[in-house]
Amino acid sequence: MTIITIEHYIAGQRVMGESARTQPVFNPATGEQTGEVKLASKADVDSAVAAARSAFPAWAAMPPLRRARLMNRFLQLVNENKEALAKAITAEHGKVFTDACGEVERGIDIIEFACGIPQLLKGDYTEQVSTGIDNWTMRQPLGVVAGITPFNFPVMVPMWMFPVAIAAGNTFVLKPSPTDPTPALMYADLMQQAGFPEGVFNVIQGDKEAVDALIEHEDVQALSFVGSTPVANYIYERGAHFGKRVQALGGAKNHMLIMPDADLDKTIDALMGAAFGSAGERCMAISVALFVGDSGDLIIPKLIERTRQLKVKNGLELDAEMGPIVTAQAHQRISDYIAQGVEEGAELLVDGRGYTVAGHEKGYWLGGTLFDKVTPEMRIYKEEIFGPVLVCLRVASFADGLDLINRHEFGNGVSLFTRDGNVAREFGRLVQVGMVGVNVPIPVPMAWHGFGGWKKSLFGDMHAYGEEGVRFYTRQKSIMQRWPESIASGAEFTMPVSN
Ligand code: NAD
Repeated sequence: MTIITIEHYIAGQRVMGESARTQPVFNPATGEQTGEVKLASKADVDSAVAAARSAFPAWAAMPPLRRARLMNRFLQLVNENKEALAKAITAEHGKVFTDACGEVERGIDIIEFACGIPQLLKGDYTEQVSTGIDNWTMRQPLGVVAGITPFNFPVMVPMWMFPVAIAAGNTFVLKPSPTDPTPALMYADLMQQAGFPEGVFNVIQGDKEAVDALIEHEDVQALSFVGSTPVANYIYERGAHFGKRVQALGGAKNHMLIMPDADLDKTIDALMGAAFGSAGERCMAISVALFVGDSGDLIIPKLIERTRQLKVKNGLELDAEMGPIVTAQAHQRISDYIAQGVEEGAELLVDGRGYTVAGHEKGYWLGGTLFDKVTPEMRIYKEEIFGPVLVCLRVASFADGLDLINRHEFGNGVSLFTRDGNVAREFGRLVQVGMVGVNVPIPVPMAWHGFGGWKKSLFGDMHAYGEEGVRFYTRQKSIMQRWPESIASGAEFTMPVSN
């Protein structure tokens, strides 16, 4: 098999860069190396930032409506290339093709949102704040901004960032995950075909060295990060030290609270999809099922059956429900967590270890895994496993379940299954989590609402995309103006007040 080299994309061109460092890229379903991704040095980052910097003045000066028209053209091209992008995701990430198509679709939503940028950038105006004086605010782009993204959504998560940032008048440097770096080059090509000027969108492949160079670069104004909590925390602190605006979205441990009145079959379907879809490698995956009262006794036996029947196979096969784990290292980490759960005394109801797929013996396979009798002290409850492992806990009441959720260090997503409107209302009001679903297992907010968790799941105050995204990538300027006829003569030494 030929091994392709996955390059950077700087100033409208694919470039090898000066760094000799590389990292292998694998197809997780076969375990075969398919590519070799370049790992940027500081000099490579400097050239990407320089390209973005020189593109900025003309790009920021372009009327927002013209920027939106280019974004519309990009939208059309992404739509035309949906399948190719989804195949590229499955080839390097492993998730099933239909799920990859859904990922691309949710990225497209954000491009559509960004096409409305003229409306989103509209400022406020007050006539006559004082006699003869008007005051208005406008939002202006920041300059060069950077995005650092995780492996689990190589199309959607970068699209949470760059369409909004670029439509708002910034230029962008994306540092995708080196685990699945190819899709970024594909949409970089589409940006070029759409007619975006050189340097408006750049891709720098790399690891920590590239990230550190972006954090420290004086021409980078803002950093958007999505990934694990320790790295989010690091980027937030370092970014602040270097005077940057930072939004850093971190890890998760999302609970589903199941009330005894919930519809049993629909709850089981929801749990299966939310725990095992994308092999649990979603920051909004449900990894904890909290059963209130006797709901566990009713649901768990069926859950065992369904977990055993899960169709785990190469994601390109259209009936696959779950693909392989992304890397051999992740496979090892998840397997270690399963062993840890057994050691801690949890009851392993379904063990996904040792799973094999005929014809794909070298793939990174794990079956769905189910634990019962998990307690809040166990590591498999406290830590993010980021794999197809669902842990079940029982609580006596709604209040106990809510309390457990609110005490967890993560607060990304949460879901409640019930038929009781009062319980649902109380849950929405009191739960300490950023994104809440009522009978919706994975409540990822739509493009115009903004995405972000609470507590250790988000460092910074602005959520990704939506109006918060626009605010993050722009800064407000207030202008107060009067004309000579309305200027009173004589110096004023007191605080000016409205008159
Ligand atoms: P990761 O933190 O390992 O990597 C994310 C990015 O940071 C990558 O681009 C990587 O190259 C870079 N990076 C890794 N280590 C670094 C270091 N020491 N210094 C600087 N940069 C570094 O995350 P991942 O394994 O790619 O993705 C999975 C994680 O992402 C999970 O924790 C998941 O919950 C989280 N995630 C969160 C959200 C969210 O919206 N909150 C969305 C998707 C994924």
